[in-house]
Amino acid sequence: MTATMYRRLPAEVSAERWWRHGDHPAVQPFHGPHWPAEDKHTACGYVWSAHGWIERDDGGDRVCPGDRVVTDRRGRCSAVRPAEFVSDFDPITITQPNEQEN
Ligand SMILES: [Zn+2]
Repeated sequence: MTATMYRRLPAEVSAERWWRHGDHPAVQPFHGPHWPAEDKHTACGYVWSAHGWIERDDGGDRVCPGDRVVTDRRGRCSAVRPAEFVSDFDPITITQPNEQEN
């Protein structure tokens, strides 16, 4: 089978760094019986009670402190780890209409 290949079009997203509960309205507390609140997540070193959760119809994303919450043009939010954010995202400047010279 030969797959037809595509390149995803570039799309502007907003991204906000998440450090604690209350930093972003899409992030809710992360909890569950498999993640005792005071145990540490070995990948990031923070206790589980310091983590967040983004609920989505496909399941959702765990949010570690320091992750970016990326919101796409459809309003869909996802968590992006710091190293992935550095390698996959570039900052852009968007000029607002009232900032343009006439
Ligand atoms: Zn973590």
